[in-house]
Amino acid sequence: SLSSCSPKVCIVGSGPAGFYTAQHLIKARQDVEVDIYERLPVPFGLVRFGVAPDHPEVKNVINTFTQTAKHSRCSFYGNVNVGKNVSITELQQAYHAVVLSYGAEGNRSMGVPGEDLAGVYSAKDFVGWYNGLPSCRELSPDLSCETAVILGQGNVALDVARILLSPIDILKKTDITQPALEALAESQVRRVLIVGRRGPIQIACTIKELREMVNLPDTRPDMVAADFDAVKEALKDLPRPRKRLTELMLKTALEVPGEKEQERRSKASRTWGFRFFRSPVEVLAEPSHSRIAGIRLAINKLEGSGEGAHAVLTGEVEDVSCGLVVSSIGYKSLPIDPSVPFDSRKAIVPNTMGRVKQAAGLYCSGWLKTGPTGVIATTMNNSFDTARSLVEDMDSGTLDVSAAKPGSQSISALLEKRGVKPVTFSDWEKIDNVEMKKGESSGKPREKLLTVEEMLHVAWT
Ligand code: FAD
Repeated sequence: SLSSCSPKVCIVGSGPAGFYTAQHLIKARQDVEVDIYERLPVPFGLVRFGVAPDHPEVKNVINTFTQTAKHSRCSFYGNVNVGKNVSITELQQAYHAVVLSYGAEGNRSMGVPGEDLAGVYSAKDFVGWYNGLPSCRELSPDLSCETAVILGQGNVALDVARILLSPIDILKKTDITQPALEALAESQVRRVLIVGRRGPIQIACTIKELREMVNLPDTRPDMVAADFDAVKEALKDLPRPRKRLTELMLKTALEVPGEKEQERRSKASRTWGFRFFRSPVEVLAEPSHSRIAGIRLAINKLEGSGEGAHAVLTGEVEDVSCGLVVSSIGYKSLPIDPSVPFDSRKAIVPNTMGRVKQAAGLYCSGWLKTGPTGVIATTMNNSFDTARSLVEDMDSGTLDVSAAKPGSQSISALLEKRGVKPVTFSDWEKIDNVEMKKGESSGKPREKLLTVEEMLHVAWT
């Protein structure tokens, strides 16, 4: 370390929130030292394990994160499960401040009967599977059915729909895992329905993701024209981004396409479409009860208007047969240490401007701070805000940094005693190199290592 009396901050989690918080701290104060602890042997959180493989440009933030990790006042300790290998209290003893940015690794469940049947997956697991998250390696989703239903209409839902329907030649050139590529090559899924509680005007995706669906080769849209009845009149009152999104939906659903597009659509072998005003009631089982046969949806109507309208039940239901259900109704943060305040209703760490309530020296950023919404840029801004709060507290003396703290020295000793060996950033760079080399031979940007064992093996030999 630079000096025994420099302020020492530790960050829990190496996703965008962790790295952006570290970046701002290092920039704002020339004396602060930052250590990042990460549960997995590999950094970058959802940039590696969430962002779709066919969105490589989104992953460019990794370059900035790498610069931060290589800064002389920043260190990375992977393979350290905070809450298990080391407690938050122990981190607080070793550091002047602790920033929690461990994301949202839980799942919101649908809370309907049948959701545990074979053939029902959370988007979190499904995405984790095609992106090589070690804990989802054995998911092997059954893709032998013709119709898949995705519950939820946000960008994650559209990612899943796109991956299910993309021509294999496109996916082949991405860093999607080999097992996922093989399973998708054999997939029988020809029809994907993307189901939402409310209507077109309330849809949660953004225009880029919708446009990708509209332009996806070998697919055609299949919408219900009546769903758009009230949408045309409402259009003029919508705020700008929402208006453009709605216009694209209207065009896709209702307009007679030009000759070229008509030909493209008639040749398409796969279809996708939104199903609006529907909520899941029950996942229906096959007579054998072993796997799913379909899903029962409640038919809703809207109360109120505009983006804030809410769905109310009509009492009617509709059954849709399908062999695959992916529920994409949101991620959820989980508590990792009983000593840390946690709001289980909102599933966040309660905070004001990133300062954890009633816990001096404790801060939070990213999805753990705000709840699991927003793109990387949103996460960046709220992480900078948290770093600003922390620096303010140091500058004002609210956070006492005058007494020397041991930082990583004492934590490393603790971890060694517990048989936990951290992965350094240069260890990760070995993994990174091996993955890129493996990818090269098959024309992919990267072939991810799929187990923690393999990652550790490469890191340490
Ligand atoms: P995360 O990225 O989840 O990082 C949390 C980190 O903490 C992880 O590395 C995790 O392993 C680690 N951790 C967890 N528990 C512990 C523990 N106990 N001890 C130590 N470490 C721990 N945004 C875009 O801008 N463009 C996109 O295309 C896009 N696609 C997305 C696709 C999906 C499927 C999802 C879910 C999100 C997507 N996002 C996208 C949003 C973006 O990923 C988030 O805004 C961002 O990752 C949130 O950052 P975070 O650091 O809070 O959480």
